[in-house]
Amino acid sequence: GSDSAIDDLVDASQSTRTLATLNLSIGRAFAIAKPLAGLTDRPQAAILIRYPLNAALKPYLPLQAGIALAGLAGLILVVLGSRRLALGIAGPIATLDAAARALEEGSHAHIVVKGRDEIGRLAASFNRMSVGILERENRITHLALHDVLTGLPNRTYFRESLDQAILQVGRTGGAIAVLCLDLDRFKGVNDTLGHPVGDALLKAIGAMLSESAPDGLVSRLGGDEYAIILSGQFDADRPRALAQSILDMMRQPVVADGHRIATAVSIGIAIGPADGKDADELLKNADLALYLAKEDGRGVFRFFEPALDAAARWRRQVELDLREAIQAGQFVLNYQPVFDLKADRIGGFEALVRWHHPERGVVPPVEFIPIAEDTGLIIAIGEWVMQEACRQAMHWPEHVRVAVNVSPLQFRNTGFQSIVLQALAHSGLAPSRLEIEITESVFLDGEGPVIALLHKLRTMGIRVALDDFGTGYSSLSYLRSFPFDKIKIDRSFITSIASDPSAAAIVRAIVDLATALHMETTAEGVEDTGQLNMLRGEGCGNIQGYLFSRPVESCRIAGLLENGINQAA
Ligand code: C2E
Ligand code: MG
Ligand code: MG
Repeated sequence: GSDSAIDDLVDASQSTRTLATLNLSIGRAFAIAKPLAGLTDRPQAAILIRYPLNAALKPYLPLQAGIALAGLAGLILVVLGSRRLALGIAGPIATLDAAARALEEGSHAHIVVKGRDEIGRLAASFNRMSVGILERENRITHLALHDVLTGLPNRTYFRESLDQAILQVGRTGGAIAVLCLDLDRFKGVNDTLGHPVGDALLKAIGAMLSESAPDGLVSRLGGDEYAIILSGQFDADRPRALAQSILDMMRQPVVADGHRIATAVSIGIAIGPADGKDADELLKNADLALYLAKEDGRGVFRFFEPALDAAARWRRQVELDLREAIQAGQFVLNYQPVFDLKADRIGGFEALVRWHHPERGVVPPVEFIPIAEDTGLIIAIGEWVMQEACRQAMHWPEHVRVAVNVSPLQFRNTGFQSIVLQALAHSGLAPSRLEIEITESVFLDGEGPVIALLHKLRTMGIRVALDDFGTGYSSLSYLRSFPFDKIKIDRSFITSIASDPSAAAIVRAIVDLATALHMETTAEGVEDTGQLNMLRGEGCGNIQGYLFSRPVESCRIAGLLENGINQAA
């Protein structure tokens, strides 16, 4: 029967030794057959070894059960573990997802996940990122709305706050005050002490303003301009009181970067809603008031008045018209003789510009020169004046000079020296016949460069006169800075010289001082013989004024030169 398998195994083992598992009558068993070598080639016998499988596997049975059990336990563990894992991940991931969305929408997101595993760490880094983004966002918003130097709100922030305040006051009542502030002569600080000191000054002033106006929003609008908003329910006197307290505080020198700097601010105030329905109008009107404060001698405050608005419209119109006036040839020069008392003849003429406006007629220089200064147009106008004056003077006798007024902006303009050189070259006028008149206001933005330029002009042979002497703050100190050729004593002293002994004393002092410094003198605005005689008595060298002649058109110069002596006498 089944044991025939043994014979097959033995047969097969003729060639090789074979191990097999056989189904035998005794059950499954290992069997091995080994042929025994005989005398002939063919084997006659073989060894067969059998071993029932049951017996062989008996010691391994418990192990098999163990393996099965272990497999089952493993399966259960895997199921439980992945469930736990799924719960442990899905929950926090949903939270993270929600938090990320919140962050995306710009709100602060913080998630609470316990544990020190990967998810816990992920949550922690998410929280750090969220804080980082928020900080950066805040920094960007801060930068966009604040001034880097002073840390104060900037113009954008100011405008938004003003809009808000106007809306608020519209709903709940109350008022809005806008104070515009501008440092007086800040440019001078930058020029003389350098930009770091200028920056420190701007910072210090920002801090002082914030301190004075804890009830207001203090902003820096740019440059040396600040603004304060008061809004809601405040005392009607508060804007004035605030402005006054700021001016009072500025009376002390401000310490900036180790320097004690004397400063002043000018302040313009507009009160809404009366002075402006919207932010633009309020700000514009506060600016107008500021402009007026500057005109009023700086270091003062002014409230907006509706009349200012008309003045501003006029200014704007003049500004527009001025731009065309040069091309259109609307300027002419008039000349006023300067009479030399010692030589007893006309020593020169002062060129005085006149604007023949097509509609307004003749506009006097006091009405347009300041506007030309503010807009920079004075540079072009001044260049024309310089060329025209030199050209005209070539027609006069050799001993007759021409005096040309030069305004501060024009003088400080880098091209000024070459403009003078060109005017002389084109006309062929000898430099010694040109006298430029400057006022001490050219020194206000820093003396150094001005004095250097004055020396250059002097080296070229041009004469320099100090105009309107005695009207400034520190006229005497400027006499030490530069050896002027001439001092022109302001008309205000001459007007009262006969009636007011102190005016006479001042004129005498100026003449004595000028003589000691080897400078000539001209008295401006001499209108009557009483003044003339006093001036002669004080030793004044030259006179100029209506007594001798008003400014005249160039065609009348020849006549004046012939008859001058008779008229002066
Ligand atoms: P300024 O340089 O002091 O000129 C003298 C001014 O006093 C002139 O006024 C002149 O007409 C006036 N004046 C002369 N004698 C008398 C008098 O006896 N009585 C009175 N009441 N006034 C007298 P004007 O021509 O109106 O010029 C005013 C100012 O405008 C000048 O003052 C000068 O600062 C400026 N200006 C005139 N022309 C020019 C110019 O071409 N360039 C610049 N930058 N400024 C100019
Ligand atoms: Mg003058
Ligand atoms: Mg003058």
